[in-house]
This record gives sequence, C-alpha cells and structure tokens, in this order.
Amino acid sequence: MQEKLAKAFQFIDSKRDEMVSLWGKLVNMESGTLHREDVDKVAAFLRETAESFGGDARLVEFPQAGNGLVADFGPPTDKPHVCFMGHFDTVFPQGTVSRRPFKIEDGKAYGPGVLDMKAGIVIQLYAIRALREAGYSDRRIRVVLAGDEETGHSKSEMARVFEEQCAGAIAAFNFETGDVSNALVVGRKGTASYDIAVRGISVHAGREPEKGRSAILEMAHKIIAIQALTDYEKGITFNVGTIKGGTVRNAVPDHAEIGVDVRVMEVDQLDYVDRKISEIVARTYVEGTTTTCVRESGIIPMSRTPGNERLFDLVRRVSEELGFETPFPIVSGGGSDSSWSVKMGVPTIDQMGAKGQWNHSDREYAVVDTLFERTKLAVACVFELEKFQGQSEVGL
Ligand SMILES: [Zn+2]
Repeated sequence: MQEKLAKAFQFIDSKRDEMVSLWGKLVNMESGTLHREDVDKVAAFLRETAESFGGDARLVEFPQAGNGLVADFGPPTDKPHVCFMGHFDTVFPQGTVSRRPFKIEDGKAYGPGVLDMKAGIVIQLYAIRALREAGYSDRRIRVVLAGDEETGHSKSEMARVFEEQCAGAIAAFNFETGDVSNALVVGRKGTASYDIAVRGISVHAGREPEKGRSAILEMAHKIIAIQALTDYEKGITFNVGTIKGGTVRNAVPDHAEIGVDVRVMEVDQLDYVDRKISEIVARTYVEGTTTTCVRESGIIPMSRTPGNERLFDLVRRVSEELGFETPFPIVSGGGSDSSWSVKMGVPTIDQMGAKGQWNHSDREYAVVDTLFERTKLAVACVFELEKFQGQSEVGL
C-alpha cells in the first residue's frame, strides 16, 4: 500500500497548478444559492469535469432549486462504497465575482466560496483521480454535491438524495470548510426556528389603559419562559433573536412578534422543543391576547455517533503518520449535510476541506497549501478504510 500511496501523492504534487486552476475557475463561476441558473451552470460544468475524470455522473434536477450532482467512480465491487460530500452553491449575490474574483496572495486564496466550499470540490475530485492513478479499485467512490446547501434544501429533495446515496456506505467524508485550528467535525447541532406573534387590544395609554390588552407584555412573559428552557448541559439552547411590536409610546400595543432560534444535539430533542414551544404559545399570561406560531424548516443534528468517533480516530492516526498537524474533534453549532449521512448510520467526518477562515464574508480565505495537504489526507484515509469497521459491519 505504501507504494500506491507514494504514487498517488506524486500525482497530486504533479497536478498542483491544474488543481489551483480548477479552483479558480470554480470560484469565478457565480453560484449564489438563490440564482438557480448560475448554480445549474456550475452543476453542468462539474458533471462534465467528473466525466472527464472517469466518473459516471448525473444531475439531480429540481424545479425550484439549483441542481445537485451525483457521480460514481470505479466499477461496483462487493464492498460498501465510500461517500464524498459537499456543495457548490455560495451565499454571495450576483456580481460578487466581478467585484472580487479569485486571487492568491501570500499563500492565501480569496474569492467568493473559495473556502466554503469550492476548495473541497477540487480536493475530492483530485483525491479520486490520484486514487485511480495509483490503481485503487477496492471500493466505488460516490461524490454527492448539493446546489442548495446554503438554504438547507428548503425547496428541493436534496436531503433525501444525500440519504439515499450515502445509505450503506462504509464511511462518508464531507469536504466542507476546513478550519485553521485543524478541528474536524464529529457532530453538529440541529436547528429549529419559530416565528411567534401575539395579538392584543390597542387603546390610548392615558385615557382607558385598563381596557387594553398589551401584546408586548404577553410576549415579554413568553420570551422569559422560552429563554428559560435553555439547558447547556443537554446542549439545547433557545435564542429570541428578533423582536418587533407596538406603534407609538402612548398606545397599549396590539401586536408583538419574535423570531426564535433553537439548537439541539440529538434528533429526538427536536420533538421536545416543539412540545415546549407549543406549551408556551398555548399559555396566556395576559387575558384577552391570542398567540400564533409558525415553525420554519430546520436541520436535524449530526449526532456524535461511535462510528463518527472511530472514523475520526482513523483520520487522526493517518494525519499523524503523514506528518500533518494532529486534528482534534469538535461538535459544531452550524448545520451541514453530514446530518443526512449520519442519520443513515454512516460514520462521517466533516470539515475535511481546505483550511481557512471567515466563510460567508468578504474576508473569506483558504490557505493554498492545505488544498494539497487535505487531498493527500483524503487519499490516505480511503486506503486506510480497509482496516475500518463500518457501522453496518459492526451492526450498530
Ligand atoms: Zn458550506
């Protein structure tokens, strides 16, 4: 295996310019989640690229969201496949590319989505090429990429596609935004959000205040009750993040509304949260007011499973053997598509992309050398999977 690994690494070293060039090309293609046509162009380009790299690629088309992509590399074998995951949409509006196109300065690459996560796409495609170049054919590698990750697939079935395509895999690697701290993600919090509105009765605050029913007072009770549900030990947090209400100072307010963000560690905590919020919505503190609540779509958590822990141990061991900085495991507060692979019982490590900082902002950058380092890490981890007990194999 050492010989094969050396061959794969040689290939990566010889393709550095080509990798950076593909990276630049991807960054310089607009792909803001909300601009479907832009996203679809990138999907089509990646399909061609995957095919030219020997993949069997197909678009997953959606009428109301950017297309996704699934590509299989290598012939089917009797062993479970390996999943590489990610997304090619960004949070940036049209015109961002012309304002600040891809550039490299002092070893750092800049541009919209350079870190989150166009680097991760280059990494997975070149890891696969390097594996094939080295004669790897033990397992099929399946690339699953979303075109609407940044909106949580609210208008597509892409989450189901991740579930279907990852099901049965020995392991999944998500090449999302890596971090300069060298943290790797073994779990992610899930999210739920609620818009709550109170109706009261408005009257003049001086003339007959007793006839009014203050929506703000009612909401104030509810806010305190909601915030009090936060349980740091269980990792469930409630945040009333926005508030609006009333019209003028001298009128009893007849409306108030809040936006609530909730984070959970485990899938079943989402039901608990729903129940608690419903109880507070149903309870009336100021007689004569009424409350309504709308739940927005959320993301289920990426549970920190024993399978993820074992896969992390493998990645850490491989990193150390290669002389790379030792990674450490974290549970992240933000969501990603790894939730879907973990839901299907597939051991998953996230944040395997190039390392950098400040994604979703103008300051976003990725450290160029880590593009190659992480490609090598991915290759070595795939080789090492031969010693790995997948979730399905240990019957967890
Ligand atoms: Zn991302």
